[in-house]
Amino acid sequence: MTAFSYTEHPSPTALEQIAEILKDPGFGTNFTDHTAVIDWTLQDGWTNPRVEPYGPISLDPAASVLHYAQEVFEGMKAYRHADGSIYTFRPEANAARMNTSARRLALPELDEQLFIESLEQLVAVDKAWVPSGDGEALYLRPFMFASEAFLGVRPAHEVSYRVIASPAGNYFGGELKPVRIWVSRDYVRAAPGGTGAAKTGGNYAGSLVAQQQAADNGCQQVLFLDPLHENAIEELGGMNVFLVTNDGRLLTPELTGTILEGITRSSVIQLAKDRGLKVEERRITLDEWDRGVSDGTITEVFACGTAAVITPIGELVDGDKSIASTGTGEVTQAIRDELLGIQTGTVEDRHGWLHKLG
Ligand SMILES: *Cc1c(COP(=O)(O)O)cnc(C)c1O
Repeated sequence: MTAFSYTEHPSPTALEQIAEILKDPGFGTNFTDHTAVIDWTLQDGWTNPRVEPYGPISLDPAASVLHYAQEVFEGMKAYRHADGSIYTFRPEANAARMNTSARRLALPELDEQLFIESLEQLVAVDKAWVPSGDGEALYLRPFMFASEAFLGVRPAHEVSYRVIASPAGNYFGGELKPVRIWVSRDYVRAAPGGTGAAKTGGNYAGSLVAQQQAADNGCQQVLFLDPLHENAIEELGGMNVFLVTNDGRLLTPELTGTILEGITRSSVIQLAKDRGLKVEERRITLDEWDRGVSDGTITEVFACGTAAVITPIGELVDGDKSIASTGTGEVTQAIRDELLGIQTGTVEDRHGWLHKLG
């Protein structure tokens, strides 16, 4: 594989305009001037790694991703530290997970080093877009899709890998505000043998109607249940879930193949163990959650993922029933502060999770 080539954007965004965008970046609406791209064909493998101007993709209307959704993606952040340097968090874990997802979707695997280099190359040219405000970061979105123009049903022979970047503010906005969660009784997210453990667009497409139902009922997110075990909880549409007990335990649903293995999830588990909490990965039912909150054994509940980091779950709405409510607890706050501190360079990175991008 040759080195990345670089085609500079003919009219990059002016620094003053970037500064204007970074004042209130929002989430996923503004994109940097460049994109990293690598092509793949069955015959030649991965070729032509490059950084080129950001812009619309020309795609044949028969491109199989548009018909059969052969696609996977990743989500990560680049943080600006106080000295101006830029770091990302556990990129080798994202590289490994993208390959796990790719195998499930019959897409080609991408070398871990090449994945990391694609991030380095993109951030190197667009580093002015990395915000420095509290809770802000440059969101990186690597993705891979079937670009071959072919309507037959088989794994595509032509694939495109890309990385785009978007400055991101505080996901749920402002301070830690507990969210209301809707329990989905009409829809499941994943079933054994399905694609639940892969980060693929189809899982999200299938969850939108449940998300809509949640919004109609005044909730911000959906909690999906295990389709096989009555009332066992799995995860939110794009975040993993944790419960904190009053006797120093941290509970989270175990990975059975239907839950997406969050990198935030695994980092939270490590940080919890570091502080002496006992972590239990096992089946957790809504009844246990309900009873625990009522009798005081469950003191905090939170969700986690790259975009929002850690968000306390206030209320759980299950049809007409509202399952007890907890505020932002001490453990939730402490783990969030520590994780965000590591990511932004104010807390020692004792696990070697940071990777310098520039
Ligand atoms: C991405 C994602 C998560 C969170 O993973 P992180 O690596 O922590 O960002 C959780 N659940 C689903 C379904 C996801 O797609």
